[in-house]
Amino acid sequence: MAEQIIKPRGTQDIFGDNKKIYDYITSVLDRYFKNYGVNKIDIPTFEETKLFIRSVGESTDIVNKEIYNLESKGEHQTSLRPEFTAGIMRALIENKLYATPDLPLKLGYYGSVYRYERPQKGRYRELHQGGVEFVDNNLDIITKIDCLNLFYSAAKELLGDNIYLVINYLGAEDARKKWREALREFFKSHLDTMCEDCKRRFEVNPLRILDCKVEHDHELGLNAPNITDFLSEEDKKYYDDICTELDNLGIKYKRDPHLVRGLDYYTGIVFELYLEQGDLPLALGAGGQYANLTAELNGPKMEGIGFSFGLDRLLMCFNESLKSDVLNKYALDFFVYSFNKNPEGVKEINDILKTIRNSNYSAIAAPMTKAFGGSLKQAARMNTKYLLLINEDLSLEIKDFSKREQQKISKEEFTKMLSERKF
Ligand code: AMP
Repeated sequence: MAEQIIKPRGTQDIFGDNKKIYDYITSVLDRYFKNYGVNKIDIPTFEETKLFIRSVGESTDIVNKEIYNLESKGEHQTSLRPEFTAGIMRALIENKLYATPDLPLKLGYYGSVYRYERPQKGRYRELHQGGVEFVDNNLDIITKIDCLNLFYSAAKELLGDNIYLVINYLGAEDARKKWREALREFFKSHLDTMCEDCKRRFEVNPLRILDCKVEHDHELGLNAPNITDFLSEEDKKYYDDICTELDNLGIKYKRDPHLVRGLDYYTGIVFELYLEQGDLPLALGAGGQYANLTAELNGPKMEGIGFSFGLDRLLMCFNESLKSDVLNKYALDFFVYSFNKNPEGVKEINDILKTIRNSNYSAIAAPMTKAFGGSLKQAARMNTKYLLLINEDLSLEIKDFSKREQQKISKEEFTKMLSERKF
């Protein structure tokens, strides 16, 4: 027998209730995008590898260990995108999107990204992200707060109050330079006890050591110097101003002076989103500010701030009660069953389905071959709101599943109620 082909490790098929919730998540994000003046953009799934090396950074795990390089066919070396920001900046420069009087640009996206990680709960090799990038010549505090507010408010609408941000302020290049030196000094004497990756990180970018998942190195990092000690008075005040605005907006956050994030391009504010309780200790989304990315990619010097939700992780946070709220929104409105199996019964079913669907309600009919008992069970399984019965004499009866009552209804009355959206 031929071998059964299964999906690659770290990928998923998303279907059934999960797909409904996934679509619900993106529909809520879409509404937030619209309300915050964000325009959507689609970019390629693969790009030239050097785009990611130059933007995400050679010192990051994402580029160093996790990138999927495509087999070169004699052209440029290309890779599957491991994140969105780099590709969006490339598109922004290539299409001169920055040449608009209406800055800041606000771009939003969804799609899959690829990272060769060890698959485990909440960690996929093909994952799905949805996020935004806000870009301007000089980003002002309103745009930054808008970005953080969009991020937090959308997550709160999806998951409830049970969320908080972890934030840090990485400051200007000068502060990070001093911090890098202090970290190098601190880790120098511990180098021989640290993992091979951290030995490399020590050389290339010691900030990355703070991100190490190996317990010994992680614990060592807890006593390492804080960025806060190197921030200028101006940076400290700016960070406090941002926190005051977060307080004013009722956004819950904790400051973590060791948060560095897994990408090299961040400057200024960085943030991650977590669930307060639950068994998923992973970030549900993350983002930050960057100042050098467009210039690094040979475009004009601009500043940006953005975030990305891990859509797969948001999906995992839907407990039974959140799930059933969403599934009720997707419930089928009408399940139609005809006891009249003759041609006039067929015509009546089709007429009624057409009337219902034209009124923008959802409806399906039981196949003519299906027995009534089985159809009733199917309607219940599908979380149907109303059962519509067509009797032998073509008269109609309607049953409201939430009230369990069944009553006769004329076709005229039914059509009128549909048009008045009484269901
Ligand atoms: P990043 O692009 O690394 O800032 O990640 C943004 C968000 O994507 C994270 O906060 C996670 O929610 C999600 N994410 C990152 N890596 C994975 C992964 N391997 N599997 C599932 N979600 C992920």
